[in-house]
Amino acid sequence: MKTNMVHAGSMTIGGDSPIVVQTMCNTHTSDVDASVAQCVRLYEAGAQIIRLTVPSPAQVESLREIKARLRSKGIDTPLVADVHFSSEIAIAAAEVVEKVRINPGNFHKDHDKAREQFAKLVEVCKANGTAIRIGLNHGSLGERITNLYGNTPLAMKEAVMEWLRMCVENDFYNVVVSLKASNTYVMVEAYRLLAKEMQETGVVFPLHLGVTEAGNGDGGRIKSAVGISALLSEGIGNTIRVSLTEDPENEIPVAQYLADRYDRKLNSTMVSLVLEGKKAVATYAAPSRERLLLDFACDFGKRLLDKELDEVVLCGTYIDEGKEIVLDGSDYAEYLTDELMQAARRRFYRPEYIACPGCGRTMYNLESTFNEVKLRTSHLKGMVIAVMGCIVNGPGEMADADWGYVGEGNRKVSIYKGKTPVLRHVPEEEAIDRLLELIENDR
Ligand code: SF4
Repeated sequence: MKTNMVHAGSMTIGGDSPIVVQTMCNTHTSDVDASVAQCVRLYEAGAQIIRLTVPSPAQVESLREIKARLRSKGIDTPLVADVHFSSEIAIAAAEVVEKVRINPGNFHKDHDKAREQFAKLVEVCKANGTAIRIGLNHGSLGERITNLYGNTPLAMKEAVMEWLRMCVENDFYNVVVSLKASNTYVMVEAYRLLAKEMQETGVVFPLHLGVTEAGNGDGGRIKSAVGISALLSEGIGNTIRVSLTEDPENEIPVAQYLADRYDRKLNSTMVSLVLEGKKAVATYAAPSRERLLLDFACDFGKRLLDKELDEVVLCGTYIDEGKEIVLDGSDYAEYLTDELMQAARRRFYRPEYIACPGCGRTMYNLESTFNEVKLRTSHLKGMVIAVMGCIVNGPGEMADADWGYVGEGNRKVSIYKGKTPVLRHVPEEEAIDRLLELIENDR
């Protein structure tokens, strides 16, 4: 899809540009040393745009310092300020970094007030050549929109279109849009609806793709690849982030694979495909485990999501530690197929996890907690369990989770049932036990 061109410092997004790979720091932005060190590692790993969270005005100053130190090292990777809840912080950050991400769900509830705040932000962005990402998430749709359209892909598209119309009214086009969800079906449909509507209106903003709260490990990679590749294969998407609840450096090779594949720099390692009605038998000769997983997710994710296929049988070989491993009939082939079916929301063989990637707002060791929650809840097939890094955005972003584990800070945790907090201020050491007790008592 042909889009406008957006400029964020040295980087061009959209137009005829290749797909841009981005990620986000999980350091505290006020810890300038740690943030600079992580930005350097992310740059070296291949990140082309790096986002940092800006929870308060003090972090705008940290951001200024981080940027200056990176530039003095010759690293000109554009930085993005991730701002929630405060248009004042967004305006201050727009004078410092190349791009500001705002969450429209967090702007003033009064529409006229929000318009006014946005117009001020646009003015500063125009004066400084700063880009904006309008980053709407499924979990943080406003009440007005959900009352009109439900909690649906259509609601996401309608909500963001209001903001894109404001951009046009303000004659501001240096804008990228995202409509992320942790549910791959919702995410893909929302972007498709938006792409169609933008093409009809004739003003086509570039799109930033991502599956939010995708989790970690194989599941997180497969889920991200299914959602992002479904859209990239249709020519939708100009910049991508693979959100993993892991060190952000681990996100880059997965995102780079997706960018290269859909910029046509590499092909799938599938060597044969036999179709029998809605069943596919796919044979691979993959050079590594990770490559097999990503090729498989990209080759079949969209077809499963769109119900063109109902079943895929994985065969062939991959190389692991120099040895050729045969997939035909193996437990590993069955596991990868189960993961793919779950990521495409066709069959749930384990709980569905929603885990944020963590950022400078994270209140505890998210990665190890998430792994422990996964281990201890693995029997709860079909249940949706969220593990979120902070109480500020976590509850709003958990979307349709049945249960949520949310960090409060000060080694305390809140436990949510759906959208309702049922236990607050639980000491971290007891929180997983309490969560499991609540789930068991509820069954
Ligand atoms: S929910 Fe997670 S990723 Fe989102 S702001 Fe909070 S800590 Fe950061």
